[in-house]
Amino acid sequence: MTGKTSSRLPGFHRLDLGRRREEIESRLAPGGLGEGLSDGLADAMVENAVGVFGVPLGVATNFTVNGEDVLVPMAIEEPSVIAAASNAARMVRGGGGFRASADPPHTVVQIEVLEPGPDAAQRVLEHREAIVDAANATQPELVALGGGVVDVIAREAVGSARRLVVHLVVDCIDAMGANMVNTMAEEVSGMVAAAAGGREGLRILTNLADRRLARAMCEVPFDALARDGFEGCGVAGAVEAAALFAAEDPYRAATHNKGIFNGVDAVLLACGNDWRAVEAGGHAWAARNGSYGSLTTWRVEGEVLRGEIEMPMAVGVVGGAAKIHPTARACIRLAGIESGVDLARLAVCAGLATNLAALAALGSEGIQRGHMRLHERKG
Ligand code: NAD
Repeated sequence: MTGKTSSRLPGFHRLDLGRRREEIESRLAPGGLGEGLSDGLADAMVENAVGVFGVPLGVATNFTVNGEDVLVPMAIEEPSVIAAASNAARMVRGGGGFRASADPPHTVVQIEVLEPGPDAAQRVLEHREAIVDAANATQPELVALGGGVVDVIAREAVGSARRLVVHLVVDCIDAMGANMVNTMAEEVSGMVAAAAGGREGLRILTNLADRRLARAMCEVPFDALARDGFEGCGVAGAVEAAALFAAEDPYRAATHNKGIFNGVDAVLLACGNDWRAVEAGGHAWAARNGSYGSLTTWRVEGEVLRGEIEMPMAVGVVGGAAKIHPTARACIRLAGIESGVDLARLAVCAGLATNLAALAALGSEGIQRGHMRLHERKG
């Protein structure tokens, strides 16, 4: 990420929309935010298009990620999320900002073989090289860029049916990769089934992208958490207790994680990414131990509140709407995002921020006071 200017924009929220836009466009010259999605582009993107549906686009301020300031584009219809993200980022800034990292961009595609013969897994792996070559041959551009299949895994006895499931692990570089890996799987499925001595089944990626995790952490000093009538150490303790509640109760965890996705999805939508894919992966990851839990942890450590998030984040900057949508292109530029990994890191920071904002409000004055203030402002 190349955040070259400060993300502290004091008074930004008090400007009118036109002045805010000028401020942001001055950082995007030439080109600015552009005219948005045209009917022609919409028609090329989906079937039976009849127009374009608008969603508010805002910018969250105060974010520092890995020592660099970054303005965070967020597309979302729900009031208070962008303000909450900006407020939380200001608190986190007091402790040095967010530290974030992401795994290499490896997406997994599944190839199902029904009624496999004896020693099917071993026989498939004996054909590993031919399978990899055939899959890679469908993506010459990706391979030329240094991507392609990095592993072949055979999983036996998956579920109750007689079934072998072969996973191709694919380095997708800067793409989310769904189309590319699905094409690979369809190409080699017959070869895999023949090697396994069974019938071809389903061929499609898994959205449980557990080899493509992104993580972020922050340490918030107590004084940054203090608010009207509430001492910072009390708010920190309340956030820790709320996080424990979410870890132990799926009813609470669902709402806790919804607050995380407020931040994650808004960044992903602004950057033209498939937020449904990330939602599916995030919820599956949250249930990986057999019971649905939280995507974040918050603990009091000495004089700081330490927060962490880890979740699957299969996102890209070259395919799908990220490539086509002019506003998404502008948002990616605004945030200084240069790779899929950059976007993955920023999205989890936004999720950790909106989670902190929600828990700090719940643990002090309650969620409705701030929320309703914003609703009234619009009324
Ligand atoms: P894509 O089909 O546009 O493929 C990416 C293209 O970018 C490839 O042609 C690749 O060669 C090229 N490329 C150029 N520079 C690259 C770089 N630096 N790194 C990687 N590739 C580079 O897009 P995709 O990422 O394969 O698929 C994403 C789309 O698939 C999204 O729109 C998503 O909604 C959709 N989708 C999702 C699912 C799912 O999640 N279950 C299923 C099907 C489709």
